[in-house]
Amino acid sequence: MTEHEHVRVAVIGSGFGGLGAAVRLRREGVTDFVVLERADSVGGTWRDNSYPGCACDVPSHLYSFSFAPNPDWPRTFSGQEHIRAYLEHITDVFRLRSHLRFDSEVKMMTWDGQKLLWVIETSSGTLTADIVVSATGPLSDPKIPDIPGIDAFPGKVFHSARWDHDYGLRGKRVAMIGTGASAIQIVPAVQPEVAGLTLFQRTPPWVLPRVDRAISGTERRLHRMLPFTAQLRRGLLWGIRELQVQAFTKHPNELGLVEQLAKRNMARSIKDPGLRAKLTPTYRIGCKRILLSGDYYPALAQPNVDVVASGLSEIRGSTVVADDGSEAEVDAIIFGTGFHVTDMPIAERVVGAEGRTLAEVWSSGMKSLRGATAAGFPNWMTIIGPNTGLGNSSMILMIESQLNYMADYVRQLDVLGGRVALDARPGAVDAWNHRVQERMKRTVWNTGGCTSWYLDANGVNTTIWPGTTTEFRSATRRVDLGEYDLLRAPVPDAAPVRRTKKRVEAGA
Ligand code: NAP
Repeated sequence: MTEHEHVRVAVIGSGFGGLGAAVRLRREGVTDFVVLERADSVGGTWRDNSYPGCACDVPSHLYSFSFAPNPDWPRTFSGQEHIRAYLEHITDVFRLRSHLRFDSEVKMMTWDGQKLLWVIETSSGTLTADIVVSATGPLSDPKIPDIPGIDAFPGKVFHSARWDHDYGLRGKRVAMIGTGASAIQIVPAVQPEVAGLTLFQRTPPWVLPRVDRAISGTERRLHRMLPFTAQLRRGLLWGIRELQVQAFTKHPNELGLVEQLAKRNMARSIKDPGLRAKLTPTYRIGCKRILLSGDYYPALAQPNVDVVASGLSEIRGSTVVADDGSEAEVDAIIFGTGFHVTDMPIAERVVGAEGRTLAEVWSSGMKSLRGATAAGFPNWMTIIGPNTGLGNSSMILMIESQLNYMADYVRQLDVLGGRVALDARPGAVDAWNHRVQERMKRTVWNTGGCTSWYLDANGVNTTIWPGTTTEFRSATRRVDLGEYDLLRAPVPDAAPVRRTKKRVEAGA
């Protein structure tokens, strides 16, 4: 049998999650790891999303690693190019380049229950690993709806996360599909140059102003000379969001006041009552992600923009047809229609102890233990797994909590010694999910009267964390061995052939 390269840990993906895992592993003294990346550079979603206007709606000083503050963020809300540059910088200063394997797309990873390791087939070869840290992210595989007639459309078609920079939009008639966080950044960026923009809005979003400004040279110098000032700034940004989340999770009715602010924000730019009516949501603010923009509504008020308050249902030649029957002839269609979040394609490529894929196991809903591990998938964990998403704060906080969990997991395996693996107990997974779903019942994401990508095909919210980031941090500080079964491979010399695997209660 072919001997493959073996590593202690294989990290998949080099976005915030994967690079964060790499930094943390090195800090834990683990150097025997690789980061498998299907593209040819780091950055994850901040590499793939390069559409005009792409920026983060979480303030820069909070949307960065706590262990790598950047005193030089140029704006309060960073553009994509600055976040991508930050991730390249992290890769260099933490000496991660030698661990990176670019153009290595994971095709399949299969648990070998005899040897207690993962066999990972990639586009650049096969390797084995004791532990897999899957950091592919929920926003990595674009979703384009199956629209009849799309294949025969004679013009240009692309998704927001696969922007074609060689295609000029100047003077073109463009259909923008969707009104999510991506679309509301694209619309004001392209509106001034296109001949006409038809916006297909299935559900109007709630939009609040984004108070974005340049961070002055004085502020930056201060942050550089006195790093605690940057920490203080981050602390304030975090604390405000930590308090706000109570309204989302426990008192959704209090959000009515925020709706008034959002309506006033809209009224400032949209003078036409008919258009205002089209743009006014009928669900509780916060049920879908609250969008932040200062230029979305002003762009919609321009004469070259037509808002169709309906979804795209069909394409006939170069004509896009809405559910309400309205039509527009266009040269290009841009899909801002989101990502495969609750049906992540990577789940089809993970084969666990029972020979089933993670996608099969999750076919009735994604379930994990503490957002990280899954029963029947020993020594496999995911960063930004089920119910770790946030509706109002920085995902980097959640990622860092998960890195604490990952670090403790690796440490615990080292302490146990020998060839060992941990497999989440089904009972522990169920108990964790029961607690999460009980808390979810009261949240705005479940009671707010909308459908969103937070909910899966069965209407279950398997994406959002229904609490504060502090609560998640404390729930993921340590690995509780009582929640895992311990798998131990036989000692090669001493073990009789029939003792291939011993399954014992962890901690026993
Ligand atoms: P999204 O939030 O999933 O939005 C998809 C949009 O496409 C929705 O408006 C949806 O309508 C619409 N849609 C789907 N099928 C349609 C059809 N047939 N006709 C018309 N509209 C259709 O996707 P996204 O905007 O790419 O954002 C995804 C996530 O990425 C965000 O929620 C956020 O977490 C992240 N993101 C973050 C930032 C940031 O600033 N930090 C920026 C961009 C993205 P319905 O609402 O009716 O389903």
